[in-house]
Amino acid sequence: MAKLYFRYGAMGCGKTMQLLQVAFNYEERGMKVCVIKPATDTKNGKKLLTRIGPERDTDLCFSREMNLYEEISKNYKDIACVLVDEAQFLTPAQADQLMEIVIKLNIPVMAYGLRLNFRQEDSGFEGSTRLLQIAHNIEEIKTICECGHKALLNCRFLNGKLVTDGPDILIDDGTTEIEYRALCPACFYKYKNQK
Ligand SMILES: [Zn+2]
Repeated sequence: MAKLYFRYGAMGCGKTMQLLQVAFNYEERGMKVCVIKPATDTKNGKKLLTRIGPERDTDLCFSREMNLYEEISKNYKDIACVLVDEAQFLTPAQADQLMEIVIKLNIPVMAYGLRLNFRQEDSGFEGSTRLLQIAHNIEEIKTICECGHKALLNCRFLNGKLVTDGPDILIDDGTTEIEYRALCPACFYKYKNQK
């Protein structure tokens, strides 16, 4: 029986790299996969990039309005697996549609995303929250903080200062230096108290 998998981690933990590895493993064995990502994340167009090199075009960039079950069942035949990058930007309904793909089409779906947004204190990314609630299998991809402990939090820095307020997606207007760092909770509070 196919399953819905959610692999989460802080920024820079290698989620996209793992996704590309899974796609490669299927394709090496002559099987087709469907790699999808939300159109919300437009910084590299249709491409998935990794910091250490490998990249791949997505098969489908989807809007928040698209019904993923209908799209995959109609237009993607004979696929062995659906791989979702930046799954935090799914709507809760789309996370449920991934489960429909798993159950009705018997195709495994592996979704990769961030667990929590940089604001830390609100309800976070609705796509990740829904996947944490419903996925058959949930696993953390670990990475380390600048201090060497396990990083848990995604932090936004503007001109070198930690911020915990603002929109999920920040447009770079060229006047402010935007930086994201994966930090452990202790380092997060250290930077927060520096303000
Ligand atoms: Zn730390």
